[in-house]
Amino acid sequence: LGSAVLALSMAACSGEGAGSGGNDGDKPADLTIGVSMPTQTSERWIADGNSVKEKLEAKGYKVDLQYAGDDIPTQSQQVDQMITRGANVLIIAAIDGTALSGQLQAAADAKIPVIAYDRLIRESPNVDFYVSFDNYKVGVAQATALLVGLGVQTKDGAKGDAKGPFNIELFAGSLDDNNAHFFFNGAMDTLKPFIEDGTLKVKSGQTKIDQVAILRWQQEGAQKRMEDLLTSSYNDSAKVHGVLSPYDGLSRGIITALQNAGYGGSGEMPVVTGQDAEIASVKLINDGVQNSTIFKDTRLLAEQAVIAGEAFLQGKTAEANDTETYNNGKKVVPSFLLPVQTVYKDDIKPILIDSEYFTAEEVAAGQ
Ligand code: BGC
Repeated sequence: LGSAVLALSMAACSGEGAGSGGNDGDKPADLTIGVSMPTQTSERWIADGNSVKEKLEAKGYKVDLQYAGDDIPTQSQQVDQMITRGANVLIIAAIDGTALSGQLQAAADAKIPVIAYDRLIRESPNVDFYVSFDNYKVGVAQATALLVGLGVQTKDGAKGDAKGPFNIELFAGSLDDNNAHFFFNGAMDTLKPFIEDGTLKVKSGQTKIDQVAILRWQQEGAQKRMEDLLTSSYNDSAKVHGVLSPYDGLSRGIITALQNAGYGGSGEMPVVTGQDAEIASVKLINDGVQNSTIFKDTRLLAEQAVIAGEAFLQGKTAEANDTETYNNGKKVVPSFLLPVQTVYKDDIKPILIDSEYFTAEEVAAGQ
């Protein structure tokens, strides 16, 4: 009995009960990791996919990497194929956080561990681990950058000289992406006191996430909504002073709409925030057109996904640093969350160039 109890408790410690993507004796070359990414229209997902693939291949594993063109049926089909082709672990960045329950059930039935990559997969008990950034803090950082850009607050959190009132507009990401809600909540918790005391005014009156969300995070969708806002809410002499944008692609759409309406040129560009440090936006920040972006080092995220994936491949459980925040509607998913950094113009060199994320030439060229 003693040894049976010991064996059981060892299994519990190493997490072997949770399903096993591999066994200790398996050679890397016999194991395949399915990596499902949402789209190639945004640089970050290309970088994510490549980094995960390279890091796993360097360890000798086989990798089945697929991009779904932001199309939900395509992603479901690709994950189905990974399962039938015998993947030992799945790493998935979902397009729609709730659309993969059937695939995840099939994975669980085949004892394939599932790691949600950057975006939480919701409404399924069959998500074993989540690797991401601190998404609430991304929203806080975006709102803080907006306050700093307007001069209402200083970078170290003190009260700034500017009193307002400032006209701002709000944007959010795709409603089917769990992250969009975390970003928006973090941002709104930060902006709320300034809206309530009249420092900031959302002139359109659109402050609810479903009024300001942009489906599939599309640049054109953001440009169109900004154009509509300018015609409907700024057809008097009022000016837009700031825009909360949760993603660089949306920021570029917003900036195009503003420029087409005559903003920019003589230093009167509204403060526009962003996320992901996409090269085209880093150039805009360097040129003083976009205010800031939030940098999430996808190299570190890929590394965490590989560490988690390898743990599962060895029949173990990945190590979490957060076991409270990410309830997916069916369970709290153990998570590993990475920190984020705000990048203003002055931070481009120390944060992005010195870490070799981009070269100075790429920043100058915007590509
Ligand atoms: C990611 C962001 C990204 C957005 C659009 C979100 O899930 O966390 O980094 O900007 O998707 O691709």
